[in-house]
Amino acid sequence: MDKTGKKRKSYRLKKSVRFVCILTAGIACVLVWAFLQTKGCGGKTEGKMAGAGRTFLLSKEAESQREGQREELEKEASIRQETIAQAKRLAASYDYDAAITLLRAIEGYESDGEIQEEISSLEAERDACVPVNMEEVTHVFYHSLVVDPNRAFANQDRDPQAVGNNQWMTTIPEFEKIIQEMYDRGYVIVSIHDLIETVTDENGNPSYQPAKIMLPPGKRAYVLSQDDLCYYHCYDNYGYAARMLVGEDGKPTCEYIQADGTHLNGPYDVVPLLDAFIEEHPDASYRGAKGIIALTGYNGILGYRTDNSYLDINGNLDEDKKKWLREHPDFDIEQERAGAKQVADALKADGWEFASHTWGHIRIGDVSLERLMGDTQKWRENVEPIVGPVDTIIFAHGQDLGEWGDYDEGNAKYRYLREQGYSVFCNVDSNLYRTWFGKDYMRQGRRDLDGLRIYLNAIGEQDNVSDLFDAKEVLDPLRPPVPRNH
Ligand SMILES: [Zn+2]
Repeated sequence: MDKTGKKRKSYRLKKSVRFVCILTAGIACVLVWAFLQTKGCGGKTEGKMAGAGRTFLLSKEAESQREGQREELEKEASIRQETIAQAKRLAASYDYDAAITLLRAIEGYESDGEIQEEISSLEAERDACVPVNMEEVTHVFYHSLVVDPNRAFANQDRDPQAVGNNQWMTTIPEFEKIIQEMYDRGYVIVSIHDLIETVTDENGNPSYQPAKIMLPPGKRAYVLSQDDLCYYHCYDNYGYAARMLVGEDGKPTCEYIQADGTHLNGPYDVVPLLDAFIEEHPDASYRGAKGIIALTGYNGILGYRTDNSYLDINGNLDEDKKKWLREHPDFDIEQERAGAKQVADALKADGWEFASHTWGHIRIGDVSLERLMGDTQKWRENVEPIVGPVDTIIFAHGQDLGEWGDYDEGNAKYRYLREQGYSVFCNVDSNLYRTWFGKDYMRQGRRDLDGLRIYLNAIGEQDNVSDLFDAKEVLDPLRPPVPRNH
């Protein structure tokens, strides 16, 4: 029993010692911890400081991230606004499908209420459009506009050029009133090529058919052309623009030389005036169409002396050219051509098209085939390199190749012009509208809206523009009575 009692005693002792040891160790730990606390524990303070820096850096980072996100959102919003504005402009010019496609390209358009509403309203506008009656598309044309009637119309009694100016030219206020009035009556400019749909048969032969142009009810389509945009020498000092230029905005504009010799740049002819009008009223033009410009070549084009006849290779320059060359001893044909090309490119980029008016302003019905061939080649050499190939010929003097209807395939001049790539032919017939589709070509009659026409309608001697405007309202008070003789 003693042995057992000793063992128990020793066990209890061991247990007590272990307890004391554990207790001592615990107290020691607490003391060390307390010591460290009172000593201020450098590591921990450093940690605190580093933490504060990190927090500062993090908030800087977050702020710049937020800034970036804000910029991103603003950019997205401005792209969205720009796209909507662009779509509205396309829709205003009746290109509803392009407008809708543009809106559908905006990210998240499916859940964007405003865009969805815009798309539905454009779809409704598109679906309300009706096909234009292609039989009733009128084609009007102008020459260069008179800037200063006092210079253009002086001396009617003794200056044949002044009489011509009065008969064939429209003044700027007359032109502006006409385009405004036609716009108010629902007229919309279309490209002459918008009228044609080319269908190719199984043998690859093209055939021309009237295209389908859809416009809102009450709108009417018309084609506009401008003849002789060359600024011939005979226009000098009669109050017309002198040449076309490219403005600072990259758009075509004009140079005008005042009576005192000072030069002005601005809207002094059909192109910049019509451009400004369409800019303000995009619904005046079908899909951005402008007019078609008919050019001869013998005095150059657009006011630039681009024709190789100025090089005097044959020594038979006419008086106008001799005088001009005397006044421009530094004439450089390549420079003239480069200037004209710059303007032609700007015109094309702006929606304008070009046509031949024959190189020498010839009467196509009267001249021989040989003369027509020589003339056509001169146009090819001197005008085509600047404006590019064209398929339209706007006959000078309005004289056509043959009677209305299908051209006679046996007509050698017709066949030659077809071989040369012409397939759209325009005369002057003063019908309200007249378009003819041949198998693979189109003919269209045109109406002159010039001084004589406006004057005769204004005094009640003719009535053939009242579908377009009121001639009495349009007639320029600075225009003298217009002689009727041609
Ligand atoms: Zn002409």
